[in-house]
Amino acid sequence: MRAKNGKQYIERLKKANNNVYVNGERVKDVTEHPAFKNVVQSMARLYDLQYEKPEKMLYTSPTTGEKVGKTFMVPTTIDELIERREAMMEWQTTTHGLMGRSPDYLNADVMVMGPAAEFFAEGDPAFAENARKYSEYARENDLSLTHTLIHPQVNRAKAVSEQKDANVALHLVKKTSEGIIVDGIRLLATQGAITDEILVFPSTVKKSGEKDDPYSLAFAIPNNTPGLKFLSREPFVVNDNPFDHPLSSRFEEGDCIVSFENVLVPWERVFILEDSSVCNRYFRETNAVVHMAHQVVIKDIAKTEFLLGVVLLLMESIGIDGFQHVQDKGTEIMLTLETMKSHLYRAEYNAKLDKWGVMTPDYDALDAARNWYPRIYPRLAEIVRILGASGLMGIPTYKDFENEEIGPILHRAMQGKNVEGFERVQLFRLAWDLTMSAFGSRQTHYEYYFFGDPVRMGMAYFEKFDKEPYKQRVREYLNDLNVKKPHYVKA
Ligand SMILES: Cc1cc2nc3c(=O)[nH]c(=O)nc-3n(C[C@H](O)[C@H](O)[C@H](O)COP(=O)(O)OP(=O)(O)OC[C@H]3O[C@@H](n4cnc5c(N)ncnc54)[C@H](O)[C@@H]3O)c2cc1C
Repeated sequence: MRAKNGKQYIERLKKANNNVYVNGERVKDVTEHPAFKNVVQSMARLYDLQYEKPEKMLYTSPTTGEKVGKTFMVPTTIDELIERREAMMEWQTTTHGLMGRSPDYLNADVMVMGPAAEFFAEGDPAFAENARKYSEYARENDLSLTHTLIHPQVNRAKAVSEQKDANVALHLVKKTSEGIIVDGIRLLATQGAITDEILVFPSTVKKSGEKDDPYSLAFAIPNNTPGLKFLSREPFVVNDNPFDHPLSSRFEEGDCIVSFENVLVPWERVFILEDSSVCNRYFRETNAVVHMAHQVVIKDIAKTEFLLGVVLLLMESIGIDGFQHVQDKGTEIMLTLETMKSHLYRAEYNAKLDKWGVMTPDYDALDAARNWYPRIYPRLAEIVRILGASGLMGIPTYKDFENEEIGPILHRAMQGKNVEGFERVQLFRLAWDLTMSAFGSRQTHYEYYFFGDPVRMGMAYFEKFDKEPYKQRVREYLNDLNVKKPHYVKA
């Protein structure tokens, strides 16, 4: 099988008939449903790009010799790492970083499962073989993937095994000759409704103890597996007029609660079973988190570039670009962009072959970036809000402009310094949809949380950071001052 195009993506999704619910109703066909049909087209566009730019987006499969997606390519040189980046950047500039779970994100994860398959052998040698085969299967079939890492928020002060209803969270029910039976709930599968398969993996941040072994699993199954339900949140596609909702009409991915009702996971799809220790180490020891962070920083750059463009046009359109504080806010975005680019280039420049034989970016650079961007992104959204002011609420709809009586009034009223009223409103609606609409607010929420709770990520970062050299340098400086100690101070 070769890399798929958009039409094949849509046909496969239609045929799969995933068990998706939205607004209390079972969705008959996600490719036609108003909540999903536009984002399905955006996904299809990404797959079409693979054939429009084959040099950039495809490579030759090491097993079949067919052309497959480069976002699955295992890099063994820095040049190949850069090729991966260029393919990912092509997709990210197409979506302007607004589809956080575009396929390249999880392709980075399953890519690693091939070369790092032996990691899974710690639980059972068969799991290593399962991981290797799955990595190949995902690449050769160009699977689109969703994933779920976290347990429901019942009582975060207690371990998952100590909850008042310990069976709410997804857990192992029993083992059979065919596979394992699992039951319970997982969160929060972005794109659950519009993808082929789901990866159930441990959290990247929250670590588990041995008591949580029944919940410590990793496996992958098709999204139409019997017993699996995707309960998608209320969609933010209010209407799909691209003037009114320029972004949500294209990139609204949907987030799903996932319900497993005694679901059979075949043995060949199990990677980790009842093993909190292996779960806790998976992302770091395989370096999956590093390759995923590489994709994330590329997405962050594309997103910041787009946001910067919106802010610059907005400033110009109402003649505020000469004011000092306005320029300073533009500079904040520019500095963010340049900082993220520097993280990326340092990560690639210092890349090394890891123990699995994969050319792996410098994690220090990417880890700093993935900890920093969630903290800075809410500020970027705030800058749009501050600079747009009333203009972000004075945003008539396309229908208003179509009305012969009020349209011309609005067109005149909304004119800007260098743009006509209709164009200015179009620009301001874009700025609003980027940051303030339901879609825009979710973008800010997404950036803050999607890689894990930034507070606990920050704690883990602090713990891991090699602090000793800095403390030692200061100790030496103090010593070198040769200050005579008072007699009561111990030597
Ligand atoms: C838009 C969006 C899309 C997402 N998409 C996906 C996806 O595709 N797949 C997926 O698996 N996940 C997804 N997530 C979930 C994401 O991984 C989690 O939101 C993130 O890991 C934080 O976990 P939580 O939401 O359970 O927060 P909680 O852990 O419940 O935290 C809630 C608050 O309590 C505090 N808190 C909780 N426990 C502690 C503690 N022990 N110590 C200190 N403070 C604590 C936190 O700091 C935070 O402020 C998505 C989330 C969002 C918002």
